[in-house]
Amino acid sequence: MSARSDGAGDVRTAELAAALAALRERIAAACAAAGRDPDGVRLLPVTKTFPAEDVARLVDLGQAEFGENKEQEAGPKAAELARLRPGAPARWHMVGRLQRNKARAVVRWAGVVQSVDSPRLADALVRAVAAAREAGERSEPLDVLVQASIDGDPARGGCPLPDLPALADKIAQSGELTLRGVMAVAPREMTPDAAFSALATAADRLRNDHPSAVELSAGMSGDLEQAIAHGSTWVRVGTALLGGRRLASP
Ligand SMILES: *Cc1c(COP(=O)(O)O)cnc(C)c1O
Repeated sequence: MSARSDGAGDVRTAELAAALAALRERIAAACAAAGRDPDGVRLLPVTKTFPAEDVARLVDLGQAEFGENKEQEAGPKAAELARLRPGAPARWHMVGRLQRNKARAVVRWAGVVQSVDSPRLADALVRAVAAAREAGERSEPLDVLVQASIDGDPARGGCPLPDLPALADKIAQSGELTLRGVMAVAPREMTPDAAFSALATAADRLRNDHPSAVELSAGMSGDLEQAIAHGSTWVRVGTALLGGRRLASP
């Protein structure tokens, strides 16, 4: 296999192009089954454990937004992409659990933080965005999604559904964060259908209170069809696009 990443012709680029085409077909079929417009569902490649060269290939194939789950992996990768594809309009989404002491670092590379799951993390991000603005590193509020815990199990992160409205209100009042919607991972003990149905109800309620909260980030490689049936606007896909992850994220 060629190690080149500077042209559209290498083997890996062809592999990614084929996977992208297959995913677009899956998304289109799920939208047709749900009676939805395919333009209402976007694909977010989750590039954790894969090198910046693969992100560059996805940029060459027309992708512009990418998800990562670890601050210490994503920051250097975003910088490396900027070196490989200067001026490429890439926007990075933090989709993983975020410690409050990483807030200052994450706002340097993330355009969106999808994993805001507590008032204390929201406070840390507010302070980080304010500091970044004062340092001249950013001028815009940070787009955020609240991460919901559908089964209320605190071990995996996410805000229990009953606490979501208060967290959303806090974010909406902050001035530094813009509430864009809700994100969740379906718990293993529930069927995806039951999980995404409960999530959709919570997302509808949030949208009533906060008109900017239009996004529902739900569905991954194994359950994107069920998520689309329940209104997902972002499907976050790793393995079905990039292949199996041999290593855990560093
Ligand atoms: C890794 C990851 C994904 C993608 O998972 P796949 O099953 O590989 O598609 C989606 N969301 C989050 C939060 C992740 O960490």
